[in-house]
Amino acid sequence: MKADIGLIGLAVMGQNLVLNMNDHGFKVAVHNRSRGKTDDFLKGPAKDTPITGAYSLKELVDSLQSPRVVMLMVKAGDVVDSYIDQLTPLLSAGDIIIDGGNSLYTDSNRRTVALAEKNILYVGSGVSGGEEGARHGPSIMPGGNKDAWKTVQPILQAISAKVDGEPCCQWVGENGAGHYVKMVHNGIEYGDMQIICEAYQLLSEGLGLSADEIQGVFAEWNKGVLDSYLIEITTNILGFKDADGAPLIDKILDTAGQKGTGKWTGINALDLGAPLTLIAESVFARCVSAQKEERVNAAKILPQSTTSFSGDKQAMIKAIGDAVYAAKIVSYAQGFGLMRAAEKEYGWKLNYGGIALMWRGGCIIRSQFLNDIKQAYDANPELDNLLLADYFKDAIATADQGWREAVILGVQLAVPTPAFSSALAYYDSYRSARLPANLLQAQRDYFGAHTYERLDKPRGEFFHTDWTGTG
Ligand code: NAP
Repeated sequence: MKADIGLIGLAVMGQNLVLNMNDHGFKVAVHNRSRGKTDDFLKGPAKDTPITGAYSLKELVDSLQSPRVVMLMVKAGDVVDSYIDQLTPLLSAGDIIIDGGNSLYTDSNRRTVALAEKNILYVGSGVSGGEEGARHGPSIMPGGNKDAWKTVQPILQAISAKVDGEPCCQWVGENGAGHYVKMVHNGIEYGDMQIICEAYQLLSEGLGLSADEIQGVFAEWNKGVLDSYLIEITTNILGFKDADGAPLIDKILDTAGQKGTGKWTGINALDLGAPLTLIAESVFARCVSAQKEERVNAAKILPQSTTSFSGDKQAMIKAIGDAVYAAKIVSYAQGFGLMRAAEKEYGWKLNYGGIALMWRGGCIIRSQFLNDIKQAYDANPELDNLLLADYFKDAIATADQGWREAVILGVQLAVPTPAFSSALAYYDSYRSARLPANLLQAQRDYFGAHTYERLDKPRGEFFHTDWTGTG
């Protein structure tokens, strides 16, 4: 019996996806560059299953039923191109290559177009949820050549996470749209994590709470509107004790790494002119954290704050919770705003409710909150900005006071809150009918004759002033 799908790349994601496919009744053939990993997998996790191994790409392709579906779960970049080049001569018109790795969307744009010319259908698909998600149900964001969807849909939707019976896998759009949406997902993940870290620092350094006390705060938050995977794991992390019984969190070096998807999201936002301030600040916060030695040195040289908190702790804890919620709303509003800008720029048709639906389960940013986003887009698919949806307009209005108090606390105690405060600055800018760009435009006209428009004249009529003249 021929296999339903072939999967190349038996590292952590590939192995778990294969086992997941097998659980759902699909017959899978596997291949890995290093033969030993294929053997280890077949003798280990895949023992006593119908999963078969192939030691060459020809053997793999020959073992598949038509139209052949080959999924790549390998290191992103040149490795994907190399596999595509080797597979293409072995495949026939109508066969499908799925790239489930973290590829850059521009690579997927290029690959979809190039393979379409050879009648090979390319699917660039984001897969989120890490090892656990891959094994038991990830969020899957496929895009590319839509002609492939009817063939790959049953497999991808079967293995994806389900929320209320609905698969966290929907067709995203053409060319690199699937990988683009995965990139924005990762950017939002950076933002969610930074927001949580700022709350943690305000609670620990600002209010002087212990890890155990902060764990209690997060456990409470996880019962309300902030209910999410990241708040849940933060609660668990804060409660985890080292061998000596002390909280492990207090012993972890404060430098964060990154693999680049947050940076890509920020760069793309700058390219498209889309304000994505919270995610950009979250990427920069990781960069500052990585300057550990410089910071330790600066802490000895630069004056330190001596102010301490003397107010109502419970009220401030609530205010910090409001800041987490409001900043999160702004971050998602900015992330969906970026996708709207990308849709226009790249000619895609994105389904925002469908994207929120895909992110509700299986992935790192999964949360109840995404239900509210889905409902907002169901009610109005053409929504300009999530902040304008009734539900979020009211939610931010309710959190507004506490959000400001949390930012003020950070400013007073010199606890940095780049995500909370940049989100607040964006919110205040977005709801301002008038910003100081009148002065900015006058400056541009002064030094560069860039001209300006006037409030008392129709748009599109441009004026220049000789600013050094007598007027
Ligand atoms: P990975 O460490 O990113 O990649 C390892 C796989 O790539 C192995 O099968 C390896 O083969 C193959 N590979 C590496 N260099 C190669 C080369 N020059 N030629 C041929 N094959 C090569 O594995 P992963 O963590 O499972 O991730 C797979 C993909 O999913 C990546 O694109 C990753 O970014 C993405 N992803 C990962 C996660 C996660 O949580 N890990 C989550 C979502 C998405 P050998 O065994 O022979 O070295």
